[in-house]
Amino acid sequence: MQRLVGNKAVTGVIQRSLLVTGSPGDVSSMLRLLMKPSGLVLGWDAKTHAVTITGRNGKPASPELARKLMEVIQDKSRVARINLGRKQAGVGFGEFPTDESNPVQELRIDHFEALNKGIPGAGTATLIHEITENFAATDPKVHENAWSQAHQTVHPQAEAEANLVLSELQAASGAKHSGQRLTQYTFSSGQGQQNTITWVEARENEYFLWDTGPGGRIQNARTAPLVPLGSMTVEMSRLWNGVPSTAAPVIAQIAALLKAHPSASVVLQGFTRRGPATNLDDWYWSIQKEVAAIVGDSLLSTDQRYAFRPPMPGDNRVDITINRPGP
Ligand SMILES: [Zn+2]
Repeated sequence: MQRLVGNKAVTGVIQRSLLVTGSPGDVSSMLRLLMKPSGLVLGWDAKTHAVTITGRNGKPASPELARKLMEVIQDKSRVARINLGRKQAGVGFGEFPTDESNPVQELRIDHFEALNKGIPGAGTATLIHEITENFAATDPKVHENAWSQAHQTVHPQAEAEANLVLSELQAASGAKHSGQRLTQYTFSSGQGQQNTITWVEARENEYFLWDTGPGGRIQNARTAPLVPLGSMTVEMSRLWNGVPSTAAPVIAQIAALLKAHPSASVVLQGFTRRGPATNLDDWYWSIQKEVAAIVGDSLLSTDQRYAFRPPMPGDNRVDITINRPGP
């Protein structure tokens, strides 16, 4: 920490656009996740809580990470707020502020460290998601609507930012390109005392997995290959909002695979002949609902396993791809 603070003189100007509260050790952990990949030297003032850019240190592995941090830190009119800890109950990585009058993003910094240790770059990418999200929510426009809508307004840009930073970091290190995050869900394995809840993040080219441990810690973060279980097609019509009855065998096949493989994910890719179908979401929901009815599982507990992809031009249909994490 000594190296990080105390050299504010490099810029001479203290800007207070990214405020981080937490123990000095936790702040160090956060800055460590950002500095090397961004090529920025960051300082933190324990009194004002302001993070500052105090210099540069080599070529950034992720130029986008550097650009975004500079945008956030150097914006004098808007203040992003982060609080760090290792024990906040119910916080998984980051939590968007629920209170508009106290818009602080709660982060469990140990989660980011554990993810980055197992999957290099992933912790940093998730961290810039949280920072971007909180910063985006300082836009006065976001405050014109009900605060309950704020997260869904800013989340997509945070997600795009994280995907871009991760792809740059993986390219720089020569690691496999994971692709965009599609969906996130959990499954449990083992019995009784040995029962483990595992989080799955399905991405375009592979899975990220981690287990939940005591105290809500995350452990054993790792990547896993996509193991294809099946792919099928349901023909659709713009005149239908739901699944045609002729698709019953396909629905039964999806249900059987999901029952047999609790870790499996489902990607729904819709095609429409003329522009985006207004009923594409209805097609997706109807497939999901009919499968859930057979699996005998509530919609809520299975819906996170599905990724709904934006429509592509083609004959009206939904292509369904089911994979599970290997080996
Ligand atoms: Zn988010």
